Order: sequence, then C-alpha cells, then structure tokens
Amino acid sequence: MSDGFDLLLAGGTVLDPASGRRQELDVGIVADHITAIEPALPRECAKQVLDAHGCYVTPGLIDFHIHSYWGVNTYGFDADPVCARSGVTTAIDAGSAGPVNFLGFKRFIAEPCRTRMLAFVCVAQHGILHSPGELEEVRFADPEGAARAVKEHPDVAVGIKVRLQRSSVGDNGREALRLAIEAGEASRSPVMVHIGDTAISMEEIVDTLRPGDVVTHCFTPLKPGIVDQAGRLREAVRRAHERGVLFDVGHASRHLDFDIVRRAIGDGLLPDIISTDLHGRMSSPNPVVDLPTTMTKFLTLGMSLERVVAACTINPARAIGWQDRLASLEAGREADLTVLELAEGPAALRDSIGGELIADQRIAARWTVRRGEVIQGSP
Ligand SMILES: [Zn+2]
Repeated sequence: MSDGFDLLLAGGTVLDPASGRRQELDVGIVADHITAIEPALPRECAKQVLDAHGCYVTPGLIDFHIHSYWGVNTYGFDADPVCARSGVTTAIDAGSAGPVNFLGFKRFIAEPCRTRMLAFVCVAQHGILHSPGELEEVRFADPEGAARAVKEHPDVAVGIKVRLQRSSVGDNGREALRLAIEAGEASRSPVMVHIGDTAISMEEIVDTLRPGDVVTHCFTPLKPGIVDQAGRLREAVRRAHERGVLFDVGHASRHLDFDIVRRAIGDGLLPDIISTDLHGRMSSPNPVVDLPTTMTKFLTLGMSLERVVAACTINPARAIGWQDRLASLEAGREADLTVLELAEGPAALRDSIGGELIADQRIAARWTVRRGEVIQGSP
C-alpha cells in the first residue's frame, strides 16, 4: 500500500455478496489486481481516483447468457462494447459455438475481446441454428466432441448447451436432452437447458437435470413453463430447485413474463442467475436493453439489491465453478469491478408480452473496471 495505487475507487459502498460485505470502503488497484480494500486509503498516492460516493462497488458483473459469436453464428452480435458500457466484465455465450467451430470462438472472440468471454458449447456440432434448428436432424449431435471441447479448453469452455424448443429439435427433445447430459457427464460440467415451447413436459426436463445444471428462460411465457395452468409453481420445479438445479432468467425478446415472475417468487422461487440473452436477432424495440436494466426489473419485482447483485456475480461464478477466480472483492483478486448507481425517478420497464412495470429506482453502470482498466458506463 505504501507504494500507492494505479487506480483508487474512493468512497463507494462495497457490496460483495460472496462475503456478505456491505460497507463504505476504498478499493486500491495496482496494475490488474486489487491490492487493498480498506477505509480511507491515501488518495495522494493514487495515479487515478474515481469518486464512487453514493455508488455501489460490486464485483464485475457476469452476464451468464448472451450470444457473442458475431459474424459466425446467426444469433451473434458485437457484444464487447455493450458489455463494457453496461458493467459486464464476464459474458458467457450460450451455445453459439459447437465442437466444429469452438476454436474460432476462442481465437476470434474470447482472445481479442476486452470482456472475458466464456462459452457453453452446443451439443450440436455447429452450434445453435435459426432455421432449420440445430437438432431437427439428430445426426448433427456430437456429445463426445462437445465434451472434448470443454475438457481441452477449460479457460473458455464452461459447460454444455442444449435447446429443447420444437423449432430447434423437432421431435428429438428427449434424445437431445439425453445427449446433452451425456456430454455434461463426460466433461464434468453443467448443462444449460433452454426451455419454452418444448414437446416434452417440464416435469420430464427438470427431473432429468442434475444438481448444478441450469434451466434458462425460466420465466418464459411459452408453454410448458415453470408454473402450471393454475398459476402455481410446479411441484417438480420446486423439488429440482431444492436439489440444486439452477434457474436462469435468459430474458431475450421472448422469454420474460412479469406475471410468471410474481407467481414464482410468491411460491418461493427466486432466480439464481439474472442474465440478458442479448443476441443478434432481438425484436425492435428491444425489451431487454442491457444487464443493469434486467437487474432493475427484478429489484422492482421485490428482490433485494444484494440478491440481485449475487445473481449477476457470485451465483453465476459458482455455477461454472469459477468462484475462486471471479466475483469476490478481496485483495489479490483480478481487478474486475463494477460501479453501480441507483438513479432515482420513475422508469417504465417492459417484459416480452406487453407487461409494464414502473421502477422508482434504476440500476445503472457508472464505470466498468476490467483488469484494472476503467471504462465509462452508459449515461
Ligand atoms: Zn440464448
């Protein structure tokens, strides 16, 4: 500390769900690492000071579900600048790459991007496809190849992705799920399952998943959903959540229904992970906007700020087994941080089916710090 800091985040409230800490503290950074978190660190020996008074300093946000394989996969978009502006220091692509084109993701997306870009590898050999769907023809499945990509590239590949909607798999949903679990077993990694408009039942899906596997689009209005016809959380979903199956928002254009969120929360299921599923085929106007806006929706729907931040930091880090590398604010950690502010004033927020919420506080990213480098947030 006597040597000073390259960067000092001064006067903010450190909000670190991994440790439970919520306290006004300064954060000192040297090069790309956090070196001190203490009250009143000396400003005069810092090369750059960010005044974080009135803001929350959190671990760098993780967007657990996006599509960043721009120029290769039809769902890809140029995610790096969007992540940087919106407080996201780690983003996880959900199946845009399969085993045959995973190396391209690593070389052309993960390596050059400023954002840490990780990936769930699709169980279909070429990644997810728009039309025809990636596993309408089940010969395109390559569970061994997907498992090999995860085992050989643990620095980027963190799990297996499968979509079970009819337009992706036709009548092959049961087989697609089986093959994805096989790949997850072989690579000892989690399987992310896309639900909504599936031919197999929600009970069959969640009963097949292992603890640590992830249901994405958990609040989709498409049937079958996690609540039943009567609007109650399905018993099988409750049991799955209790045994450690994770529920991820995966908002996208089509997959958020405020009413289902209210009913699920009312029956005791809060999302483990809040993610955007931003992709290159979003409808216009785009109801998602960005991760802070998606977080704001869940804050307004009754989750505490701590839980919302946990759902974008330590929870997704644990889901991929990276909790020792990501999502904690401690001296010695890589300096990935986000400075969030709660902007006052009403803001209208939309879901995927015309539902509207009025938020009295809006979460916004003021600064993104990735490996000690400061990026200005969205205004
Ligand atoms: Zn997606």
